[in-house]
Amino acid sequence: MATVNPNYENLQGSYLFANIARKVEAFKESHPEADIIRLGIGDVTRPLVPAVIEAIHAAVEEMGSADTFRGYGPEQGYDFLRNAIAEGDYAPLGITIQPDEIFVSDGAKSDVGNIQEIFSENNIIAITDPVYPVYLDSNVMGGRTGKAINGIYEKVVYLPTNAENNFSPAFPKERVDIVYLCCPNNPTGTVLSRARLAEWVQWCKDNEAILMFDSAYEAFITSTDTVRSIYEIEGAREVAIEFRSFSKTAGFTGTRCAYTVVPHEVTAKNAEGKRVPLNPMWNRRQTTKFNGVPYIIQRGAAAVYTPEGRAQIKEHIAYYMENARIIREGLEAIGLTVFGGVDAPYIWIQAPAGMSSWDLFDTLLEKVHIVSTPGSGFGPEGEGYLRLTAFGSRENTIRAVDRIKTLQF
Ligand code: PLP
Repeated sequence: MATVNPNYENLQGSYLFANIARKVEAFKESHPEADIIRLGIGDVTRPLVPAVIEAIHAAVEEMGSADTFRGYGPEQGYDFLRNAIAEGDYAPLGITIQPDEIFVSDGAKSDVGNIQEIFSENNIIAITDPVYPVYLDSNVMGGRTGKAINGIYEKVVYLPTNAENNFSPAFPKERVDIVYLCCPNNPTGTVLSRARLAEWVQWCKDNEAILMFDSAYEAFITSTDTVRSIYEIEGAREVAIEFRSFSKTAGFTGTRCAYTVVPHEVTAKNAEGKRVPLNPMWNRRQTTKFNGVPYIIQRGAAAVYTPEGRAQIKEHIAYYMENARIIREGLEAIGLTVFGGVDAPYIWIQAPAGMSSWDLFDTLLEKVHIVSTPGSGFGPEGEGYLRLTAFGSRENTIRAVDRIKTLQF
């Protein structure tokens, strides 16, 4: 009889958003008149920009004519998009990334989840706590974590990030082979400084570890003391894999397009102790299991790099970041302690003394009809915090903040 992958039995239930949905439904049933504002799930609300829509339309037309129709494309992405990424995202930072180091995909979620496949099962992984859950769960599936005991996996190294350490985790004390860092961070909305990231790159070199650098939110950075790409740090090409996405940057959450950079220099050891480059391994993985992002969508993504596309997208990002400012300043004005919201569309609120994440969630839902995300859902260190997103409409953001201001904590 077929047997299942036993690692899946080590997964913990992903109850966070299901629990939120259940609570919201129950509340709606008992308060049908309530006008609920959702600032919980991190999905965008602005539509695709005109430059992207025009490019998608033109590509649809091409697909309808025999001479311009495209079938299977290159699994790694069309050259026009890989070149646009290298020229548009990296060259302006003074970074040379070769197009064959860029792998276009249907999402950073798929890539950060799939990348662990090219590493052996006995690698020790380190994740920050709280964390974007995909890094952890994909490694549970890959058999690298052991079992969870009271919510903590026995073989995972957790790096607490909280107000006490200014959301900058300390280096692991034990052996770690793969470190996941997300900057700007989901869920805390904070960034790591350039100097600290340089130390992380050095730490990875010294410890022969790989750095998985998720910069899905780099477009939201407004302060100068961080990096947009890990390759701004000298030596990062030898240790870091970078994940980027058009999802939040350009509203592609439903359209699906992202990319991963695997530099030629980044290596890990094989069973004989010999260093092997990861770029050909990831290429092999993608060419075997993935058949590329639709041509139409890649044309839409390439339009992000045109002058019109850039200007239009900048406006959307500014719109969300103005929402972030409104939330941040509004909550600070009533004495709440908040983090993030300057370089990321997430605001991380410290629950007032004595309140848990779920207490604050319930208060916002029941008293002012706002849906948020309890920080404890992102890991044990998230307890006592709550996440709001800046991805709502301006009108709803202002209304939500006005309502929260009526609360007494
Ligand atoms: N990485 C982080 C940190 C995210 O927050 C998200 C989405 O919320 C993703 C990756 C996934 O992005 P994509 O839509 O490209 O799969």
